[in-house]
Amino acid sequence: MAALKPLTFDHLNAFPGLVHGVFSRAGGYSKDAFSGLNIGLSTGDDPDVVNRNRRRMLSSLDLTRVLFFNQVHGTDIAVIKSEKDAADAAWEGQGGAPSKIFKADAAVTNRKDLGLVIQVADCQAVVLYDPEKEVIANVHSGWRGSVDNILGRCINAMVTQFGCTPANIRAGISPSLGPCCAQFMNYKQEIPKSFWKYKDKDRPYFDFWQISRDQLGAYGVLDEHIETMGLCTRCRTDLFYSFRANKVTGRFAAVIALKNKDE
Ligand SMILES: [Zn+2]
Repeated sequence: MAALKPLTFDHLNAFPGLVHGVFSRAGGYSKDAFSGLNIGLSTGDDPDVVNRNRRRMLSSLDLTRVLFFNQVHGTDIAVIKSEKDAADAAWEGQGGAPSKIFKADAAVTNRKDLGLVIQVADCQAVVLYDPEKEVIANVHSGWRGSVDNILGRCINAMVTQFGCTPANIRAGISPSLGPCCAQFMNYKQEIPKSFWKYKDKDRPYFDFWQISRDQLGAYGVLDEHIETMGLCTRCRTDLFYSFRANKVTGRFAAVIALKNKDE
């Protein structure tokens, strides 16, 4: 198989100390409904095949370890500062899952050579980077995460835990459910009124890409530091997994890591 070529954010490619990528389905070993590079273990796919996919992903980024998270559409943020926190939960290519997995929908770290992985299939993965403090984060923001402002909470954690300045932070929003497909028939129950201005005027479709942009902006991230890939997962099931399009499906990965430049 040819080397994996993840999608990247143009503005993040400018930083030599950073490795990141959003992996499409291309180049994976999974079959049938999971066809491609499924990195989700709790999808019904063969775990041995998922681990093979995960290993391909790891080596394509030239990383030896990453953190996966138990994502629950909540607001817990894993803050990884010590080598112990990193080592206990790191996946290093072994057959099974690591002994410890953080229950978290966002993670922040300043550790080097440690990938943070968010798994998605319509939800947004939002990677964050402060090049001044050398701090990264990765956020799982589905519609519940948007409602609970997990993005704002994560920016806040970067500020309070690592002294980051929001105006320095760069953000990248992964392929996810676009305004073309983010239909919420029960929006009056599910979506708070403060978001209704993001609704199409005639139909119950919402622009969660703009919601994320505005949530980041409200916490001081500059608009020119936010990049959205602008690809809708439900429209592009040739490239990505989409839970809305196919209930039985895989998960694709957004990964970010700081590189040890001394190596
Ligand atoms: Zn769409």
